[in-house]
Amino acid sequence: MIIAVASGKGGTGKTTIATALALAAERPVLFLDCDVEEPNAFLYLKPELTVRRPVYRPVPEVDEEACTSCGRCVDACAYHALLALGKTVVVLKHMCHGCGACAIACPTGALRETSHETGYVEAGRAGAITFAHGELGIGEAMAPPVIRAVKEMYPDWEGTCIIDAPPGTACPVLEAVRGSDFCLLVSEPTPFGLHDLRRMVEVARALNLACGVIINRCDLGDDRVERYCREEGLPVLLRIPYLPEVARWGAEAISFVARLESWKTQMAALLSRVEEMLGGDRGHQR
Ligand code: SF4
Ligand code: SF4
Repeated sequence: MIIAVASGKGGTGKTTIATALALAAERPVLFLDCDVEEPNAFLYLKPELTVRRPVYRPVPEVDEEACTSCGRCVDACAYHALLALGKTVVVLKHMCHGCGACAIACPTGALRETSHETGYVEAGRAGAITFAHGELGIGEAMAPPVIRAVKEMYPDWEGTCIIDAPPGTACPVLEAVRGSDFCLLVSEPTPFGLHDLRRMVEVARALNLACGVIINRCDLGDDRVERYCREEGLPVLLRIPYLPEVARWGAEAISFVARLESWKTQMAALLSRVEEMLGGDRGHQR
């Protein structure tokens, strides 16, 4: 069973909650940190990382001997990743999506696919938690290939998998939550929180994912998130009040469930409830 923990924006406590779920489980779970632009779940989980692999993505290379400077590849590239400079075609690797349209358009076969290193993945263990994360290389803009590589680290995993999705609602989030069984949406009771929750619900529904909401810092702000959830039939699975010490422990990379036994129990109960909603921990192969 794959549970993706997502929020339409950063700063809602998504990683704090995702890691707390894994720590509260106290049984084997797989944790995938798919926030490859800012992976920080490892700070809370402290895995011993034993595997590191580079991640490559395809980009074209121009054979200048074979190129006739016709410009068809430049016109074919929807991502503006090719530039005609006089008689030379330049590949802007950071903008290339590896779609291959340019090679199809080229009448002389002057474009061949090469591999460009775009980031890395690491994996290891922290007690009962099997862990993987990835990081986008400096100056790299294409997160999805690194996210896919993180999700492919344990293809035969059966049992519960927790995915810490990136913030936002763009391509990286779609890549991270796609294929999940359930989306836990972390929100906060503010106008921004409501706005981003709405967008994330649209994403989850477009992908046909079951979802439920956690309202973090539920005692601050107003009740519009609660009302929206009622109107949309979204179950609010947990309300977490503002706990000032959580931020202090967070700065020391200590999960709140390591200090507050009652919240560890509640996070474990939340995990069980999601599993029950999905018909038990039935295992899932991605
Ligand atoms: S592979 Fe696609 S995105 Fe990359 S340069 Fe070619 S057409 Fe553009
Ligand atoms: S389509 Fe091929 S031949 Fe034409 S400019 Fe591009 S690489 Fe050169």
